[in-house]
Amino acid sequence: MSLSSAAGVNIIGAGLAGSLLAILLAKRGFKVTVYERRADPRLAVVDGGRSINLALAARGIRGLELAGVLGRVMKFAIPMRGRMVHEHDGAAALQLYGVRPDEVIYSVARSELNRVLIEAADEMPNVAFRFGQLCLGLAHEKNVLELRDEVTGHIYHADAQPSIATDGAGSAVRDALVAREVATVREELLDHEYKELTIPPVDGKPALEVNALHIWPRGGFMLIALPNPDATFTATLFLARSGANSFEGLGSQAAVEEFFAREFPSANALMPDLVREFLEHPQGSLGTVYTKGWHLNGEVLLLGDAAHAIVPFHGQGMNCAFEDCAELDRLMDEHHGWAGLFEAFEHTRRPNTDAIAQMALENYVEMREAVLDPDYRRKKAEAEELEKKDPNFIPRYSMVMFHPEIPYREAQARK
Ligand SMILES: Cc1cc2nc3c(=O)[nH]c(=O)nc-3n(C[C@H](O)[C@H](O)[C@H](O)COP(=O)(O)OP(=O)(O)OC[C@H]3O[C@@H](n4cnc5c(N)ncnc54)[C@H](O)[C@@H]3O)c2cc1C
Repeated sequence: MSLSSAAGVNIIGAGLAGSLLAILLAKRGFKVTVYERRADPRLAVVDGGRSINLALAARGIRGLELAGVLGRVMKFAIPMRGRMVHEHDGAAALQLYGVRPDEVIYSVARSELNRVLIEAADEMPNVAFRFGQLCLGLAHEKNVLELRDEVTGHIYHADAQPSIATDGAGSAVRDALVAREVATVREELLDHEYKELTIPPVDGKPALEVNALHIWPRGGFMLIALPNPDATFTATLFLARSGANSFEGLGSQAAVEEFFAREFPSANALMPDLVREFLEHPQGSLGTVYTKGWHLNGEVLLLGDAAHAIVPFHGQGMNCAFEDCAELDRLMDEHHGWAGLFEAFEHTRRPNTDAIAQMALENYVEMREAVLDPDYRRKKAEAEELEKKDPNFIPRYSMVMFHPEIPYREAQARK
């Protein structure tokens, strides 16, 4: 089927990638229908258990700019100039992310970002959102979507016409492609998990430096905190699931109190509601999803986390998903049929998403351990000096975060 003859395009999942993609496809004139399992987040309380705020960097910014929504997002984005590393003795030092003033990343609230993207898409006359519709996969015999209305329980089919699945790391559409032996998937679960906590304001003011991403690195594990517009910080503990110093050992009030007082005394003092939050908040798992075979004919395509979920330590999952959207949009200028477009998309994107998956895993060690190492700090300082003198020298972290013109694969190879 040619791009121009498509009656419309379905998107499965109105998360970050799905809602941005809806805008880009609608701008190209397609009639877009977005099926989302949750209720409309503009009307309902957003479900918990997902990260509360995210680091937005240049690749994500590029996607938002292309869709014409960057201005709306920047209204609630908080610039973070570097990592504030909090040592055990309470000393804290800022390690700048870049050498130029504009080399900053931004803390954005996931729920607010998603709401703004849905709002912007919904303002377009050729986008229709269908909330409360769970995609069950592809119907047996044909490539049609099988959906269930979450209110009535009614199961029905929708023509693939084609369909782009942005239904996240646990994608039902990916499962359907695997069941049909179109795709193969390898899911590598990390043996570390995460839990989110709150650092409230002190006397109405932020308890920490606002324009920084805070890290309390402790070798085998770490606590991080990102600022929110309401003067709170969302702190995230990344810790082994089991063994010494693990979530398994933190099942009681006494154990939580003792662990935080011992490992994070300075952060502990800022979290008056720590124990209640710790015992009540969900514990999230982390992993990498490697998929091969992202598409079926010109009818189905996986994009974003549905195709390639990664661990969050480079702050790139959403940025990469937004870059996916921009790349698909770019490739539409070069391809006239959906099958060729989808094939080209996987061909160009997969080497890059494999590269960021690897770099994200490596960055966990850098964040929780290397930033404390004097040798690492010396090398980083030297790299900064070199970068100031020679504009052709760009450290790998900067390539990933601030240079969207350098593909992930190249950043990984150049090192
Ligand atoms: C702790 C943590 C911290 C993170 N921090 C960062 C960060 O700082 N920076 C960054 O760039 N990335 C970060 N990420 C990664 C980022 O959250 C994801 O990469 C991003 O959300 C992917 O967007 P997506 O649209 O592909 O999937 P999602 O945002 O997960 O959206 C999927 C959507 O599909 C819907 N859906 C799911 N299944 C179905 C179904 N069967 N039928 C219909 N709808 C369905 C869901 O309800 C959801 O709305 C982090 C992730 C975690 C877990």
